[in-house]
This record gives sequence, C-alpha cells and structure tokens, in this order.
Amino acid sequence: MGFSVAEVIVDVATYHVDRPFDYAVPQEWREIIEAGCRVKVPFGPRNVLGFIVGLKNETEVPPNKIKPIAQILDIEPVLTEEMLKMAKWLKNETICYEIDALQVMLPSALRAKYEKIAVLQVELAKLPQEVQTLFGKRQKANFKEFEKAELLPVLKELIASGCVTIENIVKQQGSVKEVRMVEITSDMQVLEKALESASRAAKQRQLIIWMQAHLGEIIAPHHLYEETGATATVLQGVIEKGAARFVQEEVYRDPFTKGVTRTQSLQLTQEQNVALQAISKSMDAADATTFLLRGVTGSGKTEVYLQAIQKVLDEGKEAIMLVPEISLTPQMTERFRSRFGELVAVMHSGLSVGEKYDEWRKIQQGKVSVVVGARSAIFAPFTNIGLIILDEEHESTYKQEDSPRYHARDVAIWRSQFYQCPVILGSATPALESFARAKKGVYTLLSLKQRAMNQAMPTVYVADMREELQNGNRSMFSEQLIEGIRLRLERREQMVLFLNRRGYSSFVLCRDCGTVVQCPNCDISLTYHRTQEKLKCHYCGYEEHVPQICPQCQSEHIRYFGTGTQKVEEEIYKLFPEARVLRMDVDTTKHKGAHEEILQAFGEGRADILLGTQMIAKGLDFPNITLVGVLSADTSLHLPDYRAAERTFQLLTQVSGRAGRHDKPGEVVIQTYTPEHYAIELSKMQDYEPFYEREMFLRRRSGYPPYYYVALVQVSHEDVMMAAEYAGRAADWLRANLSEKVAIIGPTTASISRLQNRYRYQCLIKYKIEPNLIPVLQRLLAMYRADWIKQGILMTVDLDPSTI
Ligand code: ADP
Ligand code: ZN
Ligand code: ZN
Repeated sequence: MGFSVAEVIVDVATYHVDRPFDYAVPQEWREIIEAGCRVKVPFGPRNVLGFIVGLKNETEVPPNKIKPIAQILDIEPVLTEEMLKMAKWLKNETICYEIDALQVMLPSALRAKYEKIAVLQVELAKLPQEVQTLFGKRQKANFKEFEKAELLPVLKELIASGCVTIENIVKQQGSVKEVRMVEITSDMQVLEKALESASRAAKQRQLIIWMQAHLGEIIAPHHLYEETGATATVLQGVIEKGAARFVQEEVYRDPFTKGVTRTQSLQLTQEQNVALQAISKSMDAADATTFLLRGVTGSGKTEVYLQAIQKVLDEGKEAIMLVPEISLTPQMTERFRSRFGELVAVMHSGLSVGEKYDEWRKIQQGKVSVVVGARSAIFAPFTNIGLIILDEEHESTYKQEDSPRYHARDVAIWRSQFYQCPVILGSATPALESFARAKKGVYTLLSLKQRAMNQAMPTVYVADMREELQNGNRSMFSEQLIEGIRLRLERREQMVLFLNRRGYSSFVLCRDCGTVVQCPNCDISLTYHRTQEKLKCHYCGYEEHVPQICPQCQSEHIRYFGTGTQKVEEEIYKLFPEARVLRMDVDTTKHKGAHEEILQAFGEGRADILLGTQMIAKGLDFPNITLVGVLSADTSLHLPDYRAAERTFQLLTQVSGRAGRHDKPGEVVIQTYTPEHYAIELSKMQDYEPFYEREMFLRRRSGYPPYYYVALVQVSHEDVMMAAEYAGRAADWLRANLSEKVAIIGPTTASISRLQNRYRYQCLIKYKIEPNLIPVLQRLLAMYRADWIKQGILMTVDLDPSTI
C-alpha cells in the first residue's frame, strides 16, 4: 500500500527543468509520505532540494533508471494542497518556474538557501516508555534518528494521536525558546484535596485558593510568583500535591516590542455601517465578492476592516490584512493587536529569518487567526480563510518585481475563490484598473465619502515655485509654507514635510565642466550621503568617497546639489533654529524597529516636524498634525511612465490626508513648478472621480491600461551591441508570432539604460485580447532558456509591469 513514486519539482535554476521528475519513495516511507513535503533528491551530480507535488504508483521511468529520494525533510507537509494548486496557477499567470512559485509561498527558512538551518525535532518526553528508552534520557531527537531506528510508522501515529510534537527548529537568532510553564489542573476536586492536605501550610493554601480561580490555565512561573507572592518552594510543594505541573511551552521570538492597550469596536457611522453590512452579507452567502472600498482619507476604512475581521473570527475563520510596506505595519499592527491581542501575527521584511519563520509557524499551527503583513503575507498558510484585505490597494509594492512577478491583488482574488470568501480592496485613490472594474461591476463598489468624525477635508494650497523664484525667493520653501511652519511652531501643532524622493536626492556636480558623478555600473548619478561623506548608488549599492576634485576636468569647484532630506533638515534649522525635526528616510530607518521609534517619538510630541520620503505619505494618524508640506510635487510627475500622473495624484492625496484628521482643521501646501498640470490641479480638490475621468480619457487616447493590457520584455547584456541585437530578435519574433492587432513597441532602451554593468533594452506589448499571448511568450522564454542565456543574455517577461 501507500505510494511508491513521488513527483518532485527540483530547485535547479541553471538547468531550467520546469517539470516534475519521478523518484522512488523508500519502502519505509511509502505509507507516510505526503505531497507538499520537502525532499533531497539526486539531480545530476548532486543532491538538491525539491518539493513533492504528487504521489503515484506508476511511472514511465524504467525500474533500473529511477532514483530513490535521498532524504525526506518534513514529516508534515509545509505546503497545503491549496498551495500546490496555487503554484500551478501562478506559474501560468506570471510565466515563472514552478519552483519559484512554490518557494515564494514559504518563509525563507524553509527555502533552499536556508534549508540547513531548519531541523526537525521530536519531543520525546511524551513518548510511550518502550520507544523512549531507545533514546536514553534525552528530551529531543532529530527525526532522522527515527528513520534510522525504523520507527517512522510509529512516529506518524504518535503525531496523529498528539503524543509527540514535531518542530522545524530554525537554529538562527535565538530560535524558538522552550520555557517551563506551570499548568494548573482543571480538576476542582484535586484542588480541594490539595487544600485539605496543606492544612498547616498557609502559603500553599493561599496559592491553591488562587489556583481554584484559574483552573486549567498555563502560566509562566515568574508571572505566577508576581501574581500570588508565592515562592518557588511553595509552588514546588503545591505541585507535589498534584494541583499543578510543569510543562514545556514554546515561546516564539516576539517581534512586537511593546505591549498594547486593548480597544473596543467603535460605533460605526452610517456609511461605515452600510459597507460592513454588504461585506457581512457576502460572507454569509460565501459568494467570493471583491469589494472596492473607496473612502476618503480619515473616513475610517480601518474600523470597517477591524469589524469585518471580528465577524470572521466569531465564525472561527481567519483573515489576511495586507499593508503596502513595512513602515506602515507598526501602526496598523498596533491597531490590530489592540483589538485582537495575541491572535495577530505579523509578517514583513523587517523581521529576521527566525522571526519570520516563527510567525509563519504560528499561522500554520492555528495559534493565530489574523496576519498583518506586507505583500508576501498573502501566502499565509491559513486553511480556513474568511476574508482578505488589501489596504491602499493602488500601491505598487503589491507587485513583486522578481520571479514570480505576481500581484498580491490577483493572488488574493484567487484565494478568495478557493475559500469562497470576500476580498476588500481599500483606498482613497484606487488604481485606475480597480475603479474601472468597479464601474463595470466586476468589483462591488463601497464608498465612504465623509471623514469618520465629520472633520472637514484639509484645505489645499498650491505654491507656484516659478513665481517664488521671480519674487526673489531662492529657498526650497515657498512663502506660504514658511508662514505655515511658523504658525504651527507658535501654536505647538505638528507638521509633516514630504519629500518626493525619487530623482530628488543630492548629487555631486562640477560647476566648471558640468560633470555629474555617476555610478560606474549604472546609468544613474550617485547620491550624496552627508553622515558618511560618501556617494552611493541606490540601485547597485556601489559607494565611494566624495571626490575633492572633478574626475573629468580636475577642477576644485565640485560640490553637491539637489535636495535630500538631510539638506531640507539643515534648511529648516537655518530658518527655525527652535524647531524639533525627526527625519524618516532610508538612512534613519536602517536598524530594526527604527520606524516604530520615530513614529512613537513623533506621536508623543517629541518633535514638531516629521520630515521624510514616501515612507511618511501613508497611514499616519496623529491628531496634532495640522500642516502637510509637499516640497516638490513634480518629481514623480516627470518619470517616464504612463502611470506618472496617477502616482502623483495618489501620493498628493495620501500625504494631504495626514492633515486635520481629528478635531483641528488641516492645511496642505503643495509646492510645484507645474501648477497647471491636471494631476496637481485636481489633487487640490481632493476628489478622485474628476481625476479618474480625465486620466481614463488620456489612457484611452494613448492606448494604455485599463483600455489595453501591457506586457514588458526586457533584455540585458554587458555588451551593448548584444543587448540591442537580442532585443531586436525578441521584437521580430513577437511580431511574427502575435496577431496584427497587437502593438509591439521597441526595442527601445529601458528607462534606466544600464544597471549593474548591464545594458538594458525592452519591448512593450500592448494588446486587448490575444489568446495566444501566454503560449507565445512561453515559447520566447523557452528559446531564451535553451540558447540565448548561453550568450550571456538575461531576459525577463512581466505580464503586469508596474513601471515601464
Ligand atoms: P482611513 O483608514 O480611512 O484613513 P482611519 O480608519 O484611520 O481612516 O480612521 C480615521 C480616524 O477616525 C481614526 O482616528 C479612527 O480611530 C477614527 N474613527 C474611525 N471610525 C470611527 C467611528 N465610527 N467613530 C469614531 N471615530 C472613528
Ligand atoms: Zn569638471
Ligand atoms: Zn550602481
């Protein structure tokens, strides 16, 4: 019985073998093995990691050719059946290798790169005597030892009956800690008896009486001592009377740095209530509706999420809550933990490998029911999902830029269909695609038009920086913004100053010959970092010391220009020496927990001004912020990207929404050199729909999404001629194989024409309906994998590029 052949997807990137291979299952494993387990299998000259994706009893491989699995790494699957299905879908949807689709769903501790640090252990203490003796006095055993002792079938039974627990221990960074806990008996009679027999030990009696009010609870000894005043000796005495016992508990590395105060559900506003009712109804009907919750900033979307999740938990189901980036997770996590306490796990890139693994395990073992996290949390290994939420659904961070190039929104919708549960896409400024779908009825639109406590939307002023210059103001602050800052400092109110970072950081320029110091590997100017007196490339990490003389003309008139956050900070201090500024950017948030610290300090009023980049545009909810300044609205406007206007509008609306969220009215000053641009004009009104109409008109005219789909093929090579040549071949091939209705633009140089020493070309494919597209692109990729790659070409295909 059992299965004798396993289909395994191997982690072999160089061979590009993208199909399951058959391996023989060792005799003793046949009854036990399951799909979704990781294995080591011989592949070519070495053993590689693989995932079992199927089991069977027949194979076309001749008996003398089939190789046995070398080692089985899991006794319980790390991937569920749902995930195996999802991987197949992802592979097709994003044209990636199945191995990439499988590994993206797992915490890195379980992927090939780290697999050595995750070791299975079996807790021996609870084993039946006859088995336990085989292991001497040890508490734990590696499960390979069970394999050697031919005890696997027993082990599987023991797991099923709950006699043993099995654990992938990540041996890094402190690991899961085992601690001794006190478990109080849940038998009242036992306690009565203990109380009697302790008639002459007053302290023991005291403790037992306390225990009577805590039947069945598990508590850490030091908590128990604090709580009851008992000593270890007293506890020992009580334990000997059978009233309690010591148990081992796993304690997870706690990524939360501080405790939270609990909050209750708020009384919903009329609009919030309508939204919640619609979502509840869909949950009851299990109709997998995707809702687009469009609510102006401060309208209380989060409260709707919280109450919808409460309903999910009441029904014994689980919820995934995605936020666009790690800088937003502290605030969101706190709001979630204050409502749901220990039921919340977090997942984002700021956690260590070990912490991420622990959070993942909590989810997998059903110890939590809610996960708050960034993009990858969409793969949380829940098995009974009742709701998935994407907050700020328009954010580009939901799209992964490496293989598999998935969008979390698509994965969310796939999973919601699997579990027949709703999805909520929330935003004040939905992606054009999403709003268009809502208008067509593909998504169900829910609107929150008022702020939750009926506060006015902030007043927005646009400062024309050209005019400022004409009036002799050469500083980076308009008169209006300076006046605004002065007033807030006087009134002791808080401000957010927002710097549109991209293309806006300091660079070093020679005043004599105009040379800008560039990265030797990329077509990008280097960014000046004052604290280290260094120039750095933000794309490849290259750094060098600030040159004293121009590398081109040897002039000494070389200095830094442009405006980074550090420069802004200096300017503020020049104008307002008394101002207290907190800076939040890549430099100040390098260490772990830095985001939390900065936000906490600001929340506690330890600064007047929060100055930062993209990181501070969203999510902040502080009552005392009454002024938001956008130092230069234009930078994101002039990026060579069809979404530039949309991005700018979204950013301006988001950041403006930080002002006046509570009782004090808010004001926004947007500084720009192009006040007449519609994205800026319309962001003054803080109204999404006029912008939507305008932008849709332009998209239709120029043939961009959502009217057309786009796909992007990028080709790179160290040699510029080679890159151009193969990009040309790709374009020709696409033209020959796709229908005439498809527009193929290119090859052109990519917007960053050289990156990490590689020249980059691209072809843009625009289409409406092209059933052949995926197969054609798959064939192009096959050609590349079989041949082009040997020439040093790298090629990527992205079916939903977030930038072009
Ligand atoms: P959004 O996510 O839409 O920007 P939030 O959920 O952050 O808005 O809500 C903005 C503010 O309004 C928060 O301080 C929140 O606590 C408060 N709030 C939300 N809903 C209500 C409500 N029903 N009653 C009172 N205050 C609310
Ligand atoms: Zn020079
Ligand atoms: Zn570089």
